[in-house]
Amino acid sequence: SKGVVRVVVTGAAGQIGYSLVPLIAGGKMLGPGVKVELRLVEIPPAMGALEGVKMELEDCAFPLLDKVVCTSDAAEAFVDVDICILVGAFPRKAGMERKDLLAKNAAIFKAQGEALNSVASPNVKVVVVGNPANTNALILSTFAPNVPKSNITALTRLDHNRLKAMVALKLDKNVTYVDGAVIWGNHSATQFPDVLNCKVDGISDPIREAVGGEAYLRDELIPKIQKRGAAIIAARGLSSAMSAANAICDHMNDWLHGTGDKYVSMAVFADGSYGISEGIVYSMPVRTMKGGSYEIVQGLTVDAFSQEYMKATEAELRAEREDALSIL
Ligand code: NDP
Repeated sequence: SKGVVRVVVTGAAGQIGYSLVPLIAGGKMLGPGVKVELRLVEIPPAMGALEGVKMELEDCAFPLLDKVVCTSDAAEAFVDVDICILVGAFPRKAGMERKDLLAKNAAIFKAQGEALNSVASPNVKVVVVGNPANTNALILSTFAPNVPKSNITALTRLDHNRLKAMVALKLDKNVTYVDGAVIWGNHSATQFPDVLNCKVDGISDPIREAVGGEAYLRDELIPKIQKRGAAIIAARGLSSAMSAANAICDHMNDWLHGTGDKYVSMAVFADGSYGISEGIVYSMPVRTMKGGSYEIVQGLTVDAFSQEYMKATEAELRAEREDALSIL
């Protein structure tokens, strides 16, 4: 119906899905007053659990929730969809090689790309969450040529939020005082969490020095962000879901409503900025405009320390791309 935003969530009965759908239906992602139709997608064995999620959504009596549709057919879900959140992916199992995981997911994202290509609006905004997220987004786009590349992104906002929060904690400030953090590259252990362009209200020293200089970054802060997901699995026995769902809402909310003069981290198609050449989906500092367009922020400071990390994560993404292309 009119004025209702159609949102697809795949893997909706999974952990992240369970944390995410109440945030969307409650207005946290689209903003206050915007009605939403939720199209929840799952694989056939999870359809029973998905019906349970639907029942709980009904029981929340969300004023903004117009309709909930459950399906195992992505092509059905993608018709005229406005926002597509691709969480469902094949999980990494013990003993599985990285290449096996890539192959399983390449097949899933190829099929979803083809479905998107045949039925979705060219204005659809897509964020890929399922891992390997950057390369899954690349595969999706390869098979969805009707959707502009700029409309296909992958999530690095959780990494971005983690970095911002850790800088705030280290400097004993509220997160709202921290600005300008960047995640570069892959949503993986090679990502480069960068504070060189960070500013914190009330702190006049460069933030890299204020937090403890290069040694602290190299030995503590960067590995801590890179391995935060593993630390949460170790502590909870489950991977991060609440914070992932929150980050998905932040990513979409900023994309839809604009970041103003600030920027955030989003994995987008590389265009040569910062010496990262085309053909991969790489997390960059991105400024979004009201209405849904965005640009890669130019002119941030990148020094030799940053270059080393940025090139390493680029190399990993190029290798993932080669592996994916050799399979498909
Ligand atoms: P989760 O909901 O915990 O995670 C889903 C995906 O998001 C995984 O690939 C996970 O990667 C990834 N992810 C990305 N960023 C993060 C992050 N910061 N923290 C945690 N995860 C992150 O997985 P579940 O297994 O609970 O749920 C997945 C659902 O997807 C299941 O219900 C399953 O039925 C469905 N599914 C759907 C498919 C499809 O739509 N075709 C295919 C396969 C499954 P990682 O594994 O590296 O943590």
